[in-house]
Amino acid sequence: MTLNIAIIGAGPAGYYTAEAALKHWGGGARIDIIDRLPTPYGLIRAGVAPDHQSIKAVTRRYEATNLGAGVRFVGNVMVGRDVSVDELLGIYDAVVLSVGAPHDKPIGIPGDDLPGVIGSAAFVGWYNGHPDFADLQVPLDHHGAAIIGNGNVAIDCARVLAKTTAELAVSDIAQHALHALERSAVRDIHIVGRRGPHQASFTTKEAGELGHLERAQPLLKSGDLPPVEADAALEPGHRKMVTHLRGFAEQPRSDKPVTIHFEFFRRPVAVEGAGRAQRLIVETTRLEDGRAVGTGELHAIPCGLVIACIGYRTAQIPGVPYADALGRFPGDDAGRIANRLYASGWARRGPSGTIGTNRPDGFGVVEAMVADGLVSRGGDAPAALDALLASRGAAPVSFAGWQRIDAAEVARARAGAPREKIVSVSEMLGLVG
Ligand code: NAP
Repeated sequence: MTLNIAIIGAGPAGYYTAEAALKHWGGGARIDIIDRLPTPYGLIRAGVAPDHQSIKAVTRRYEATNLGAGVRFVGNVMVGRDVSVDELLGIYDAVVLSVGAPHDKPIGIPGDDLPGVIGSAAFVGWYNGHPDFADLQVPLDHHGAAIIGNGNVAIDCARVLAKTTAELAVSDIAQHALHALERSAVRDIHIVGRRGPHQASFTTKEAGELGHLERAQPLLKSGDLPPVEADAALEPGHRKMVTHLRGFAEQPRSDKPVTIHFEFFRRPVAVEGAGRAQRLIVETTRLEDGRAVGTGELHAIPCGLVIACIGYRTAQIPGVPYADALGRFPGDDAGRIANRLYASGWARRGPSGTIGTNRPDGFGVVEAMVADGLVSRGGDAPAALDALLASRGAAPVSFAGWQRIDAAEVARARAGAPREKIVSVSEMLGLVG
């Protein structure tokens, strides 16, 4: 009998889980990939930077999975609102939560609620045309912007703020963001790390890219770098990344109008300003057993925009246990949450790794299902879901519906850009028919 599997979340983790299930069960499995948006691909569409199109090419692989026999995309359906996890467990033999980690981890410092302080999920969602953030107010009228965090998301945000309109126009950055950035007054972008260059989690390519921007120069205080001999202890990839940073410290000052200041050993302690963010107060730190410890020395970074790129949390779903301290679902390493309920990707392990890291994750969950002796309980799950959704007045979007949205986005692209994203769900639904 056919195994019925529901995967919640049409991002990389969801598609790799579907791919693994197809590989294992072939035609013996029927898979519904349910997403709250009418569009698939999750973080590839709304997280990966618009000027990193080569990473986005992986959607062709996900498309092939979705076009395989027995696989459906069920978009515009929100689990927890249109259908509960309990109801899905009643319909399907297994439910996998591949919902990612879409919420910003709070900074938790005084003044972090001032206008002008935003999280990277919001800022990245804004420039990537995510419907939730299309109306976000991003103040770009001040010469300074502070980006908190020393990971690749911080680099993405800095690069988008630093690039010229011409550099960005050939990407699929949302039109509203391109227009706003065109008028941006931001000239000093501060990337604030509470620890040092050796502890930064930038990857080599992402750090190196900052050295090749048309109008921006990265700057680093050489005193923040450990002695060069200390690099020998680093893992080779990480050493190469640090070599890029060393290069930034040695470069003579150019006449480029935008500067990306690496502010290492600085812990954010407050955001201050009269009715809006005007400066980020940071405390100088030193390392003790690898941890950042404040020295009491304070310093103000003038800025009208503060973007916290310090990590993400998975959204809670009614009826599903949640580990608040971890910001994700609890469960074992294989993704088991409860009987027949699993998680994969960031919802299982937290916000770490590259897109490709989700592939073994998806395969691991399927191995767990096999080890758990998952069996078909019979029934036509897709038909049962459709009937339930129809009774609730929900309007699911199929993969063919998404293909119509996709075609419309490609058709309205700026010259040289791959697509112009539609940022309104109702406009998307109008296209689906
Ligand atoms: P990340 O690499 O974990 O970096 C988070 C940063 O936030 C760390 O530097 C961390 O510092 C800092 N931080 C956390 N809490 C803080 C606090 N309260 N105050 C100050 N700093 C704080 O995470 P990410 O940049 O969000 O990226 C998430 C994942 O996506 C990563 O695996 C990343 O590589 C991946 N990604 C990849 C790409 C790409 O390949 N192009 C692009 C974007 C994202 P500590 O180290 O001191 O904790």
